Amino acid sequence: MCDYRCDKHKIEYKDNYVVSPCRARCRKCKNKRVDGYSNPDHISNPFGYLYLFPYICNKCSNELELCKWCKI
Ligand SMILES: [Zn+2]
Ligand SMILES: [Zn+2]
Repeated sequence: MCDYRCDKHKIEYKDNYVVSPCRARCRKCKNKRVDGYSNPDHISNPFGYLYLFPYICNKCSNELELCKWCKI
């Protein structure tokens, strides 16, 4: 899997994997193809599982060489 991450998020989300069947919208290209990731900080709550969604999709992340977990 190719994904571009900054040093901070490389460590913070090193154990993350794609789990969510639903997709979020990319903040850059506006396409709905951002996968939901497992949440290492997840605590049980009545609202269900809180997926982590990167800010941008893999394609934008690679093209722009931006970490997809950093706020843009
Ligand atoms: Zn995108
Ligand atoms: Zn980052």
